[in-house]
Amino acid sequence: MRGPIIEKYPRDLRVAPNWLDTEQAREAFSWEAEAKALSGLPDGGLNLAYEAVDRHAQGRRRRHVALRILDRNGGRCDLSYAQLSSLSNRFANVLKRLGVAPGERLFVLCNRGLELYLGVLGGLKNGCVVCPLFSAFGPEPIETRLRLGEGSVLLTSESLYRRKVAGIRERLPALRHVLLYEENGGALECPAGTESLPRLLAEADEDFAIAATTAETPSLLHFTSGTTGTPKGALHVHGAALTHLVTGKYALDLHDDDLYWCSADPGWVTGTSYGILAPLLLGVTSVVDSGEFDAERWYGILEKQRVSVWYTAPTAIRLLMKAGAELASRHNFSQLRFVASVGEPLNPEAVWWGKEVLGLPIHDNWWQTETGGIMIANTPAMLIKPGSMGKPLPGVEAAIVARRDDGGLQLLEDEVVGELALRRPWPAMFRTYLGQEERYQRCFVGDWYLSGDLARRDADGYYWFVGRSDDVIKSAGHLIGPFEVESALLEHPAVVEAAVIGMPDELLGETVKAFVALNSGFEASEALHDELLGHARKRLGAAVAPKALAFLPSLPHTRSGKLMRRLLKARELGLPEGDTSTLENPT
Ligand code: ATP
Ligand code: MG
Repeated sequence: MRGPIIEKYPRDLRVAPNWLDTEQAREAFSWEAEAKALSGLPDGGLNLAYEAVDRHAQGRRRRHVALRILDRNGGRCDLSYAQLSSLSNRFANVLKRLGVAPGERLFVLCNRGLELYLGVLGGLKNGCVVCPLFSAFGPEPIETRLRLGEGSVLLTSESLYRRKVAGIRERLPALRHVLLYEENGGALECPAGTESLPRLLAEADEDFAIAATTAETPSLLHFTSGTTGTPKGALHVHGAALTHLVTGKYALDLHDDDLYWCSADPGWVTGTSYGILAPLLLGVTSVVDSGEFDAERWYGILEKQRVSVWYTAPTAIRLLMKAGAELASRHNFSQLRFVASVGEPLNPEAVWWGKEVLGLPIHDNWWQTETGGIMIANTPAMLIKPGSMGKPLPGVEAAIVARRDDGGLQLLEDEVVGELALRRPWPAMFRTYLGQEERYQRCFVGDWYLSGDLARRDADGYYWFVGRSDDVIKSAGHLIGPFEVESALLEHPAVVEAAVIGMPDELLGETVKAFVALNSGFEASEALHDELLGHARKRLGAAVAPKALAFLPSLPHTRSGKLMRRLLKARELGLPEGDTSTLENPT
């Protein structure tokens, strides 16, 4: 039966969790003690790629599979830690031979596959700042990011280059080298001004002396999702390795023998922090799927690859829900022992769906491009309160705050809605917004980093997402979080996805308008329109429920799967759409 809490029973925990999540365990935590799990470079310093790959390649996990790459046609290729180490060394040697110095920016525009991993890891070994981009980006977002990041090297495939980069190349004077490969097995033909990666790799040495990086050396540049405006470039450092390692262990509960799958693309920070780095740092085997989302394919991967830990996102879960329980029932998920989700609020419906269809509840967690790693999570040992993003991880101090008029902060009590803040520093904290240092500084008040998200904490210490401060609706003195309204709409069997926005209203300030996409088998009609509004009123009360509702075939998302409420609002009000570079399937 569905209730407010999902208990955990011993049978739900097939392996003992890495962290028991008791107050005692929380107090016993220290970053210094956890840092002993990192090796450091032989001559001192720290390098993310060395920690992720080389130290395992030199130790007892050298033959352990690091990556299991699935191609689009059902083939698979396993790569051990030793192989990944030599290949990424070759890539680093290619950069060195081309005269690419530490600190230069390497952009990686690749479909998910081996080259993407070699680019990121080899680039880090050479001391470059690596910036992975979504391969689905069109020329404009690519140009903007390469220009802002002053990319001097680009790794991409021949076909992506011809379609997306060749036309903008002239406008990228800082771009000195373009390395190409062929991804469909055909012959590589390098257009003028590009170089053949396979040829350079074949000529390169398998040994590489890693650049002298330290915990504070810049490592990765990640652009935010652009959900609330123009994407910002968040700069991270090699020391982030410690956050990735600790959160991989405690929030994702990775164990030595896990078969782990992070279904996020590295164009989004989740796909890098948890699709590349965290599992490798822990010496675990990762599945890398080159294909695109397809419900049957994804169920097939979970089953056939015997995935034990899966990290995914609410949009993917909603798409699986839409595909129906019958498809899921044809698959066996007995190997799966932990499922986590990030990126957007996870509606209680989705948490329960996991329990009923996959046999496991879905564990929501919260973080941002800026935080570099998971900050608040439902860990395996915790009771789940569906709809809550969980509790701060060890080493993370969170608070709900309000900005005071004198520029200071007020820490708010339990149950009061305010801005979610984190006490700095933590290892994976971003170090600046590229080209916007002042904006970066504005994120901090004293020791606190302000996330821009509104939330509340309950008496048990669980955090509940209310909305982004930009999306929150103020109606007749009430503060309405879109998440609460959307979750109520989602309880109706006809609704597969919902987004709500505030519409200006002379009397009330704002009123709530909902947009919904329907499940297969349901058709938009006036009767359904009234029924949904009635359902929301019954669940939420008239003050919070939407006053208007529109049906849409689908809702606009960013490429990282987030609802773009600002776009719905701009369209509704006839305002400019703003930056749409991260919009998925632009029409
Ligand atoms: P931009 O900053 O460019 O507007 P973005 O904030 O969507 O884009 P990301 O850094 O990819 O870019 O996303 C972080 C945001 O995603 C968080 O600030 C939060 O609003 C949302 N988010 C992430 N995880 C959760 C979660 N578990 N529950 C609710 N919201 C979440
Ligand atoms: Mg953001």
